[in-house]
Amino acid sequence: MTIDQSLVAKITAEVMARVQEHKHAAGNGGIYDTMDEAVAAARNAYKQLKKLTIAQRENLIKAMRLAARDNAQLWAEMAVQESGMGRVADKVIKHHLVADKTPGTEDLHPQAWSGDRGLTLIEMGPYGVIGSITPTTNPAATVICNGIGMIAAGNAVVFSPHPTAKNTSLTVIKTLNEAIVKAGGPANLLTAVAEPSLEATNVMMSHPDINLLAATGGPAVVKAVMSSGKKAIGAGAGNPPAVVDETADIEKAARDIIAGCSFDNNLPCIAEKEVIVVGSVADKLMSYMQRYGGYMISGQDIDRLAKVILTEKEELAAAGCTEKPKKSYAVNKNYVGKDAKYILSQIGINVPDSIKVVICETAADHPFVIEELMMPVLPIVQVKDIDEAIELAVKVEHGNRHTAIMHSKNVDNLTKLAKAIETTIFVKNAPSFAGIGVGGEGFTTFTIAGPTGEGLTSARSFTRQRRCVLVDAFSIV
Ligand code: NAD
Repeated sequence: MTIDQSLVAKITAEVMARVQEHKHAAGNGGIYDTMDEAVAAARNAYKQLKKLTIAQRENLIKAMRLAARDNAQLWAEMAVQESGMGRVADKVIKHHLVADKTPGTEDLHPQAWSGDRGLTLIEMGPYGVIGSITPTTNPAATVICNGIGMIAAGNAVVFSPHPTAKNTSLTVIKTLNEAIVKAGGPANLLTAVAEPSLEATNVMMSHPDINLLAATGGPAVVKAVMSSGKKAIGAGAGNPPAVVDETADIEKAARDIIAGCSFDNNLPCIAEKEVIVVGSVADKLMSYMQRYGGYMISGQDIDRLAKVILTEKEELAAAGCTEKPKKSYAVNKNYVGKDAKYILSQIGINVPDSIKVVICETAADHPFVIEELMMPVLPIVQVKDIDEAIELAVKVEHGNRHTAIMHSKNVDNLTKLAKAIETTIFVKNAPSFAGIGVGGEGFTTFTIAGPTGEGLTSARSFTRQRRCVLVDAFSIV
């Protein structure tokens, strides 16, 4: 018997086409082999989403919130296990926070003008397909939060997670997709590639079917999206100072600073990264910080710790230049998000589990102050008065305009720092996390866009304004 080769080719092509079709429909929970497939599936899902009413869209958001709450513990364990960073109990709090306090469709407010010449309306419409690049420090929380906000605004999302938190991020995407489909929504509103990489992110950033980019991460990725030629939302690094003046409730300030700094082992971009305290209350503050979980190191222990958690780079001097090469430092990633107890053990100091933060007094230009350490190591700098404190806080925040915290009862001092530092978030007399709605009023977000100015992003940040004008009608007065 002879086989008709053209028939075989035809059958093979048909089978492959059906496999592809099935992949698009079911999408393996939104996870694809290639970026092109992930974008095409999200584009298709966006078209389906457009057919739903806003009330139906809100139902999908409800289902996403429920799935996030149900899996809060599991995803916290996965994230800590996979990335080797952070604390499970704190990540559980983060997951509940984004499930409960990320705004949904109620965030989209239309505006209207009515008058002699009729009615003009502005509505907030979706961009289409958003490319969302997410960090390793909050892998599940950022996917939940951006997923809710972006879908509430009517978009589909292609995620580009950090490769070191790949499994956690992809699991969250799949589970949220399943919840959406169960609630009557389209498959693949959230997609990603099975093997996230810098190359795949680059393909996404230049893909013609991606309408908006949102980068949540350090300076490199923010620069990359802002240079992409597409509209971009950049949520970048912070180095938040906590300033304490002589009028503060010092015991409360110490407790709040330790709580904020140690939350998820200092991974949040909003967490206290250095303390600047007016000299007259410094000893009292440091003594209370030790009472609430700080462990003070000094002298050679600080130098030994610096050798462990920082790597030194010598910037090459220019040719013919006689000046000594300038030293600069990079954070040793092996210690990012690790427990204080573990970090201290690396310099031979053993402490009980109750120790949450390593504290030390340093000079204002110490690398612990300058670098964004993202670990529970907190330098404390003494200054002579509030003016010196403000000057230093502005300097070490590096113009990120991200977050600052201040403990004071002097309204003039609080106002002076807030005006000078121009941060997106300014927290008064509370731990930093009050700024994203934990123990403070207001909604939450894990994408705080200082560089591009959207601030604390929510559904409306992911919309385009659209104006509809009806002339000489529908004004009823
Ligand atoms: P990271 O910058 O290393 O990575 C973030 C994401 O960007 C990852 O998905 C990574 O793969 C990708 N990426 C990195 N460089 C890139 C490049 N050149 N081109 C394309 N993609 C690139 O950051 P991280 O360690 O995952 O997260 C910590 C950093 O993120 C800190 O600086 C922290 O302050 C910041 N952060 C900011 C916010 C915010 O809302 N502003 C929230 C969380 C974290």
